[in-house]
Amino acid sequence: MTTLSATGLRQRFGGVVALDDVDLSVDHGEVVAVIGPNGSGKTTLLNALTGILRPDAGRIELMGGDVTAAPAPRLARRGVVRTFQDGRLLESLCALDNVLVGLHADPRDGAWRGWLPWVARRRRGRAIAALDAVGLRDRWSARVAVLSHGQRRRVELARALVADPRILVLDEPTAGLTPEDTHAVRDLIVAARNRGVAVLLVEHDLDIVGAVADRILVLDAGAVVAGGVARSVLADARVRHLCGMAAVEQPA
Ligand code: ADP
Ligand code: MG
Repeated sequence: MTTLSATGLRQRFGGVVALDDVDLSVDHGEVVAVIGPNGSGKTTLLNALTGILRPDAGRIELMGGDVTAAPAPRLARRGVVRTFQDGRLLESLCALDNVLVGLHADPRDGAWRGWLPWVARRRRGRAIAALDAVGLRDRWSARVAVLSHGQRRRVELARALVADPRILVLDEPTAGLTPEDTHAVRDLIVAARNRGVAVLLVEHDLDIVGAVADRILVLDAGAVVAGGVARSVLADARVRHLCGMAAVEQPA
């Protein structure tokens, strides 16, 4: 079942063609990775799909319904959640309060309902469980400003996962992480996928891509230049060259 799909997405910034007729789909329980050189349009694609920007042309569907013009908050209420390449936490708040923000758009526990004492209790329980799932239960009361880079990225993941998303959209979630934190993020992506969440992942670490992606889309200068089953895309010499990877060793 297709969770999110897009056809003919186009986006220009002045003379720059950031998206050039991009088609994409992500199914329930599938990880689709978007790779490509810096400036190839990966973040712009995620911004278009999550309502952060309204593309110049194209159509976006969520669960088969047209959401092309839907703004980010409406998409969040319908289960489209994301993290940002540059990280966007509320610095003066603790980890728990940052994760509670992720419940604001939840149809059951969100917005004004948080004022109801029994809803507030349930929200807190869900937020603590989400922090537990990313290994940060014991840091719930820490101000995020004092956490390590890897811990902060995990708080962002907890905030994205707390409201049981339909699709999780991640922009370079392992950038700057230690190997241990990278593996923790990889395992969280796999766990979400195994629960049936659709995952759209922009990732520069191609070992992670190879480990988690079912399908891969390769962007160059805004256009899809390759795509398909992860293993064959990563073996493609043209893709490896474009993404700065060493050539695959041919058996003698
Ligand atoms: P990537 O995430 O693949 O590195 P981006 O999507 O961030 O690439 O950028 C694609 C192209 O669009 C780049 O040339 C970038 O400079 C340009 N671009 C992205 N966002 C904007 C913007 N808000 N205004 C002007 N140009 C932008
Ligand atoms: Mg980017």
